[in-house]
Amino acid sequence: MSGLLSNIAAPPAGTLVKTADSVRYHPRVLYIDIDIHHGDGVQEAFYLSNRVLTVSFHKYSADFFPGTGNLSEIGSDLGKYFSLNVPLQDGIDDESYVSLFKAVMEPTITTFRPSSIVLQCGADSLGCDRLGTFNLSIAAHGECVRFVKSFNLPLLVLGGGGYRGSSVARCWAYETGVLAGMSLPDELPPNNYYEFFAPDYRLHPSLTGHIQNLNTRHSLERIRVTIREKLRYMKGAPSVQMQEIPPDLMGFLASEERSREEKEEENGNADAGERRDDGPAKSGEFVDPELGGSGDGTGAKGRRTRIS
Ligand SMILES: [Zn+2]
Repeated sequence: MSGLLSNIAAPPAGTLVKTADSVRYHPRVLYIDIDIHHGDGVQEAFYLSNRVLTVSFHKYSADFFPGTGNLSEIGSDLGKYFSLNVPLQDGIDDESYVSLFKAVMEPTITTFRPSSIVLQCGADSLGCDRLGTFNLSIAAHGECVRFVKSFNLPLLVLGGGGYRGSSVARCWAYETGVLAGMSLPDELPPNNYYEFFAPDYRLHPSLTGHIQNLNTRHSLERIRVTIREKLRYMKGAPSVQMQEIPPDLMGFLASEERSREEKEEENGNADAGERRDDGPAKSGEFVDPELGGSGDGTGAKGRRTRIS
C-alpha cells in the first residue's frame, strides 16, 4: 500500500500495520477509534511517539475488555499528551455521543493538524450488539465518519469489531455510501441474503433505547473539558523532520526468505517446498498443542486472545 488511500472502506484487519505504514509517509497521523473497545494496541504501539495521536471512544469498565483507556492515559516521553481517551459508560445515546465526538475531534484536528487520518469504525458500538452495550444508531455512527471526512484530509477508513452480523453489514454499507458521497435508500434491494435482514428489511432498523444510559450530562462535560485542557498542553502540532523512508518490513522479510531458498537450491539441498521450521519440541519446552508457541505465552499464536 503506498501511503493512505482516500475515503475507502477496508476490511477489519491489520489496523496497527496500516497505521504504522501511514507513518512512513505522513509526518503526523491521527488515529481515531469508535469501536466500543479501547484501542489499546495502537495506543500502546505509539505511546512514546508524537507522530501518531490516538483518540479512542470506548466503554470503560474494569470488567469490560481490555480494561484500559481511562482519562489519565495520555502518552509518555515524547508522546506525552498524544494519547487521548474518551471513557464512556453503558447506554450512551446518539445525541450525547455525536455531540461529544465533534466537541473532541474538532479541536483535536485543528490543534494537531494531522497530515492524514486513520479512522477505525468498529460496529460493536451500535445498539443491539451482542457484546457492546451502547445505544448508537447506524446514522449516528455514520455521522462520525461524515464529520471526519469533512476535514478533507487523506483518510483511511477501517472496519473493526461488530458482533451482530446484520448490523455490521448495514453499518459499513451505509458508511461506504457516506465516504463515496452517495445516498442509499432505506429499503434494502432484493439480494441473496435478503432474509438475513428480516423483519424490517431496512438499512436503518431501530437499534436504540434498549440499554439504560448511565452517562450523565456532568460526566460527559467533564470528559470534554479535560480533553480540551490536554490539547492545550500539546502546544500545537510537532514539526517532524522526515528522514529516509525505512524499508517495508514485510517486503524485506520476503526477500530474505527468497534469497535463503535460492541459496539452498544452488547448494542442491532444498526441500522442494517441504521446509518445516517448527521442529521437535526442545527438552523442557512446553508447547500447547492448540495454541502453538512456547508455554510462556510468547509464541506467535500463544498470545492472549484479542477482541476489537
Ligand atoms: Zn470492539
